[in-house]
Amino acid sequence: MSSSRQRAGYVALLVCGGAVGAALAFQAGRVLEFRLAQEALRQYADTILHVAEATAAETAAAAHQFSADGMAFCSDDEIAAMRRFVYNAAFVKDIGRERDGLLYCTSGLGKLPKPLPMPEPVLSYFSAPQSAQIDIVPSQALALAPNSNGILVAMRGVTAVLNPDLYANLDNPPMHATGLARDYQHQVVIYAFGHLDPLSSREVLAQRMIEREGILYQPLCSSSRAVCIVASEARTAMLSGHRGYFISFPFTSVLLSVIGAIFGISIAASILLYFHRQRSLERRLRRAIRSRQIVCAYQPIVDLETHAIVGAEALARWTDDSGESVPPDVFIPVAEDKGFIGAVTRLILDRVFEDMGSLLANGSFHVTVNLSISDLGDPRFFEYLERGLKHNSIPPQSIGFEITERATALHGDGQAGIARLRATGHAVYLDDFGTGYSSLSYLHDLHADAIKIDRAFTCTVGTEAVTASVVPHILDMALRLKLGIVVEGIETEEQADYFRTAFPGARGQGWLFGRPVPALEFQFQLRMRAAYPKTARAMDDAAASGESDA
Ligand code: C2E
Ligand code: MG
Ligand code: MG
Repeated sequence: MSSSRQRAGYVALLVCGGAVGAALAFQAGRVLEFRLAQEALRQYADTILHVAEATAAETAAAAHQFSADGMAFCSDDEIAAMRRFVYNAAFVKDIGRERDGLLYCTSGLGKLPKPLPMPEPVLSYFSAPQSAQIDIVPSQALALAPNSNGILVAMRGVTAVLNPDLYANLDNPPMHATGLARDYQHQVVIYAFGHLDPLSSREVLAQRMIEREGILYQPLCSSSRAVCIVASEARTAMLSGHRGYFISFPFTSVLLSVIGAIFGISIAASILLYFHRQRSLERRLRRAIRSRQIVCAYQPIVDLETHAIVGAEALARWTDDSGESVPPDVFIPVAEDKGFIGAVTRLILDRVFEDMGSLLANGSFHVTVNLSISDLGDPRFFEYLERGLKHNSIPPQSIGFEITERATALHGDGQAGIARLRATGHAVYLDDFGTGYSSLSYLHDLHADAIKIDRAFTCTVGTEAVTASVVPHILDMALRLKLGIVVEGIETEEQADYFRTAFPGARGQGWLFGRPVPALEFQFQLRMRAAYPKTARAMDDAAASGESDA
């Protein structure tokens, strides 16, 4: 791909990442905003219902008090009491006394010179099964006094005047309130105050949130008073996505979209960066192989009985041009994925021959080399190995090979390669044993010489970890199949003692005996141990506490 096309591809990926992130976040924002708006409407409805209940309670209190106050009808005392009531009331603006359809006195005007006929009620209903009838007269029918203009609620001969704008004042645009009187006898609700709403009595009494023609309604009814309310809001319904998508300005959605876009771009950028790094890692690694930058560190393998070094594992080490050391766990998988692990393996073999040639020649010492599964099916590897051994006069017994258990389990063709290596005289070790698909039959079929117990198991020795219980099982399997054991990752005396006792003849590898070090350092350690065999354990202690990794 040309670099301009590549750049266009990157930009497209970033834009797509941003767009997808923004779209997802926008949608999530709408849902969130809709839920928030629904919740706000519900809370608003609660407030309105609270006011409706308080109004009904105050009206009923006036009716109860003055229908049986024991005072003479429309006496000065009663009028004074009515005035006191109104003065302290929150919703009742005026109170009048009525008898046989005629109004005789009010708290505002006092005793009327001539009784006034009560206007015809527009609504008459029953607040509860055995309650008195309640009549409601709208404000315009009443002209008692300028300030008595209001809705009349008449009950038991007491007429309370309520502020007709009560619910209009409670409007909180875009939310609106409707007050309804509830007739228990007929199970209907009757419009009384505020905004007209299109809900039927059944819908109101069901008290479920309803959307109608782009407006969301929340009806609520009081459990203690004969009132219901309906709170409505147009914007909320729009948010549900049915209409008016862009009419309202969904702030949360837009904000979330921006965050989502940033998030999406970041993810896309991370993906790009990852692939870019991988590609550049691959390029650097290929270069490193060509210029033979990859070297070996050697980690001692000891006899757990004597702590004498019997071999070493060759571990690949790469310090790149910038001086940064790249761990094998990072670059080996890249070489495997990109199909050039064979080149790494051949380079490691070269290093082992160069570094350890003389030690390996006499056959009393061995080095193990890690292989990847593809090496086992690669004829070039076998040819290279054979040539190298011959050229350096090294017996095959001096070079062992480690193959991870997982790799061999996944690829049946590993078996042929293992058989070929063993037939030539090389020992084959199953590396990282216990982390894969170990089973008795599988071990039997593979015909390895030894297993290397993974560090994950070693460090559970002496602990309560569940994996600790697997260790005796692995040792038992090895014993039955006459396989050798190399224990990886031994860091403490306790771990070494455990395996020495549990599996006579076991070998060990780990920081307790020595970290991976360059060839020269390794050979120095080896000579020291040969010269002072009795102090091997003391030296191991020093290695465990001090030496740095190679
Ligand atoms: P491995 O073959 O299981 O090697 C053992 C790893 O455990 C090494 O890590 C070693 O440094 C580490 N180790 C040894 N003893 C201890 C200990 O006591 N404590 C702790 N914490 N770690 C210990 P390293 O060198 O980073 O190698 C990682 C893996 O990379 C190796 O695991 C092996 O699978 C792979 N590898 C290394 N070199 C090569 C190579 O040349 N070819 C291939 N195919 N794989 C290699
Ligand atoms: Mg290994
Ligand atoms: Mg291992």
